[in-house]
Amino acid sequence: MVPEHFQMYINGCWVDAEDQALFESLNPASGQAWATFPNAGVSDVNLAVAAAKAAFEDGLWRNTTASQRGKLLRRIGDLITENTEQLAQLESRDNGKLIRETRAQVAYLPEFFYYTAGLADKLEGETLSLDKQDLFGYTVREPLGVVAGIIPWNSPLYLTAIKLAPALAAGNTIVLKPSEHASASIIMLARLIEQAGIPAGVVNVITGFGMPCGDALTRHPDVRKVAFTGGGASAKHVVRNTAENFAQLSLELGGKSPNIIFSDADLDSAVNGAIAGIFAATGQSCVAGSRLLVQEDICEEFLQRLVDRVSKIRIGDPAKPETEMGPMATQAQLGVVEHFVARAKEENGELLYGGNRLNLNDGWYHEPTIFRCQSHQDTLMQEEVFGPVAAVMTFSDEAEALTLANDSQYGLAAGVWTRDLARAHRMVKGIRSGIVWVNTYRAVSAAAPIGGFNQSGYGRESGVHSVLEYTQLKSVWINTSSAPMPDPFIMR
Ligand code: NDP
Repeated sequence: MVPEHFQMYINGCWVDAEDQALFESLNPASGQAWATFPNAGVSDVNLAVAAAKAAFEDGLWRNTTASQRGKLLRRIGDLITENTEQLAQLESRDNGKLIRETRAQVAYLPEFFYYTAGLADKLEGETLSLDKQDLFGYTVREPLGVVAGIIPWNSPLYLTAIKLAPALAAGNTIVLKPSEHASASIIMLARLIEQAGIPAGVVNVITGFGMPCGDALTRHPDVRKVAFTGGGASAKHVVRNTAENFAQLSLELGGKSPNIIFSDADLDSAVNGAIAGIFAATGQSCVAGSRLLVQEDICEEFLQRLVDRVSKIRIGDPAKPETEMGPMATQAQLGVVEHFVARAKEENGELLYGGNRLNLNDGWYHEPTIFRCQSHQDTLMQEEVFGPVAAVMTFSDEAEALTLANDSQYGLAAGVWTRDLARAHRMVKGIRSGIVWVNTYRAVSAAAPIGGFNQSGYGRESGVHSVLEYTQLKSVWINTSSAPMPDPFIMR
């Protein structure tokens, strides 16, 4: 099979890399190359940023009325709806995500554009109650300029939408760099953006590797904000790069999220919630509920039910709608999972299920895996795996549950399973993380902010405040007196 070729979108044109370099994308379900992309170098990055800067400075986009920008965002949402199946198929082939999940994600994707479209014309400043005679003051919210969006491989369309929609709503221009493991659906999205009538240069998509492409983009002096989702190691490079230019930065870096099951929980629901937390998306989710904390008196029953359901998970081709768990997105990530499984064994973790890679059609499959850990300091309890490996520990009471939950360098998400409303509220208040789900897990809405505490990053995406993160405030002072300007040597 000849791999399909995708071009980059720079300044409204479909282009290859200046030096014609390419890279291949492999289908995780077969290990076979299925697509090629331009391998953007520094000169391509410079072209994309120059296009975005020119599109910002010519004023065409930022001076478009906010309601017109809202209409264009809605048009993007409509076009996504018309192309749901193609987008879902592309993403599934590229990163191995289940077609049943990419279909559901893409079906919801327009909501991010519709919701944000409604915010575009509500970016209001304020009149100021100044305590100064004859001065009238107000604020206006203005766009930042060129934004860079750095996208990982696990949910490229969703993680792009929550950057792109608010950036555009506020009048910024943007350069997007998807992961080299999952660029296809973002290129397809760029085709829809062109079709929607977004002016040339406002949205640019470059394909390439973190080094040099992502690096050159995030250190570019004309980039005023970077919105990054990915791993902590790359994030540290990006922090240093943006520091060079004092560019603003938001970071969403994953976690080691606790999923806490109290003995009064509805156990059937909690079992499904535990599976949704760690085995959905083959565990390759920033919000994965990878630490299962279970109250002692129900632990044996809970684990029995969990292992029973996990043993029935249908693993296989992500393109088949009946499949429940697909491959790892990259061979390297499969290696990471194997490394953590070996480490858990060295640390005397009790293997309750799985533990092995699976040989299916040369794809990068791993069994759903459950370890009961000896100590909360074990590697599996502290470090993010980003794969289908659950670490289980018990707790005796609420206080211990909270102590264990907060014993983490991360703080992205948490789940609490209980029928006791007062306890649920106490836990919500005590848990140090950006998201807490009570009696549910992995729920997403355009109205709900996403972001972390501690080493899970900073800044929030999605939700009503997300657009504000793409604006800066300007204070305006108007002298309403016709008298001469008073003493120039004192501050007024
Ligand atoms: P990375 O952090 O390396 O990749 C995320 C994005 O950053 C990709 O587009 C990547 O490009 C880009 N990137 C990499 N290096 C730089 C750099 N120096 N400057 C600018 N951009 C850069 O994630 P990985 O794919 O390597 O996964 C590693 C770990 O990250 C996972 O094991 C997981 O723990 C975590 N992760 C977290 C995610 C989340 O949702 N929070 C999502 C994905 C991963 P490219 O891939 O093309 O090199």
